[in-house]
Formats: sequence, C-alpha cells, structure tokens
Amino acid sequence: MEMEIKKQKSISAAAKIIVQSRYTIALIGAGLSVESGIPTFRGAGGLWTKLGEPPNNGYENFLADPKAWWEQNLNSEVDPERTQFREAIEKAKPNPGHLALVNLEKLNILKHQITQNIDNLHHIAGSKNVTEIHGNRIKLRCVNCDMRWHRDEFDQIRLDWKQNLPPKCNTCLGIVKPDTVMFGEPIPFSTLNTCVNETRLADCILVIGTSATVYPAAGFPREVSSSGGKIIEINPEETPISEAATESIKGPTEDSLPKLVAEIKGIIGDDPTS
Ligand code: NAD
Ligand code: ZN
Repeated sequence: MEMEIKKQKSISAAAKIIVQSRYTIALIGAGLSVESGIPTFRGAGGLWTKLGEPPNNGYENFLADPKAWWEQNLNSEVDPERTQFREAIEKAKPNPGHLALVNLEKLNILKHQITQNIDNLHHIAGSKNVTEIHGNRIKLRCVNCDMRWHRDEFDQIRLDWKQNLPPKCNTCLGIVKPDTVMFGEPIPFSTLNTCVNETRLADCILVIGTSATVYPAAGFPREVSSSGGKIIEINPEETPISEAATESIKGPTEDSLPKLVAEIKGIIGDDPTS
C-alpha cells in the first residue's frame, strides 16, 4: 500500500516535469516488451542469464565467414533456446506500455524514441519517430552502404538468396547481414547520428525498462542530465541510472506508462491544441 502511494506520487511528479519540458525523448529497453511475452537478456529468466553472455566478437566472426554464419543462422535446429526467443518475438503483440508511448507521441509530448529493442513492436503499435539503435529483426542491412530491406522484400529481390550465401546487396554487392547490431559491430553512422542529435535537443529523457548497461545507449541519459535536463526512470529494479534520475517510477511499464499518460492528460486536457 505504502509502495503504491509512493509510486503514484512519483507518477504525478514525473507528469509535471514532462509537461513543463520543451523536448522529451525516451530511451527504451527490453523491459517494455516483457509483458508482450519477450524475455529480457540479463534479468531473471533472461536469455543470457540462462545461456551466458555471447562472445564479444560476433561481428568479427560474421565478417570472417559470412557464408558459414548464414548457414548456421538459417538452420534453426542448431540453437533451440534462440529459436524459442525468436518464436516468442514472432508471436508478440504490443502491450499497454507500447500503446501509452503512441499516445504520448500523438499528444506531441514525446518527440522521439530511441529503442534498444529489435522486436518491431513500436511500429506495430503505431509509433512514428523511433530510432532502432540495435536494428530491427525483420530487416536486413548491407554492411557496405547501410541499405535496408524487409526480409520478405529481400526474398523477392533475390529469390535464390538462400542458395547463394551470403546474400549480397543489389546496389553495391556488399555482404548483407541481419539489421540487428552484433557484438563488436559499430552502430550504423546515420543511426548513431540521429540518437546524438535527439539527445542534444532533449531537456527530459524517459528511461524505460533498460538495465542501462549497453553503450553508447546507456550514455544518453547522462548526456541529457549533464546539460541540465531531467531523467525520469521507469523500471521495477534499480539500475546504474537510478541515482541520477530526478524521478524513479518503480514498477512494470505496462502499468506505470498508461498511468503516466492519464496523469499528463489530466494536466493538459485531452486535446493538447485546445
Ligand atoms: P536488459 O535485459 O539488460 O534489461 C532489461 C531491464 O528491464 C531490466 O532493468 C529490468 O529490471 C527491466 N524490466 C523487467 N521487466 C520489466 C517490466 N515489466 N517493465 C519495465 N522494466 C522491466 O535489456 P536492455 O537494457 O534493453 O539491454 C539488452 C539488449 O538486448 C538491448 O540492446 C536489446 O537490443 C536486446 N534485447 C531486445 C529485446 C527486444 O527487442 N524485446 C529483448 C531482449 C534483449
Ligand atoms: Zn550495399
């Protein structure tokens, strides 16, 4: 009960900060999609808690032998745990947390979302201004020119790509890999650039469901606060960002985010233009 009162107080305080801010952005992590049935990597029940962290040289291995990498990737028998994770994402639907973020964007309060999630649920929910800093699992990307394709679209462009591994870019003949960023792989330049620019513009950042341990994403909240902006964290657990946060809403996003939106609507009225 006391916890609930404390949480409601943080939600009210956070809503006031957000309404008074000029440019609010969000940094999002795997916690947002837990309610959609997708496990996190590091928390209880996380994929890596079970399997151990993958080696740090994933990208190096890919570049060393892209053909072998693709052959293994297309053979789902090889790694049943990862196949299970993939299937969980395929079945997943946006949850009330994703929909709350769509609402905040429609109210013109949330200007941009930097998501570490690769599950495509922001787009399915209807969010528009989203940068997927770690890529999107339904896309493929050329390592040379950063051109991206939907997996299905790529299948159509190169019908025979499963026989001709590794797949090649139809513009520059560069090697094609999944859009998701591998360990040891640099974030594509234009993606990182957008994140840096949005972070510079922000005077408030919502840090949602992320353990804030993966760089460069984990550095954005500190950038905002070191230039005088506010951090609002929404997470059931403490993270390395918690002590720098102006407000911490301790609880799952599927519950806290809709409450936060309701509180904001209570302040500004339903129609932000009226
Ligand atoms: P993480 O696994 O390191 O941390 C998850 C965080 O979510 C933890 O701090 C945990 O306390 C919090 N959390 C758990 N349940 C929650 C809930 N219901 N509501 C709010 N928060 C909750 O995840 P990360 O910080 O995003 O970093 C891991 C990397 O793994 C990311 O880069 C991402 O690319 C990738 N990843 C993506 C997905 C996805 O697309 N859904 C899933 C797992 C991992
Ligand atoms: Zn290319």
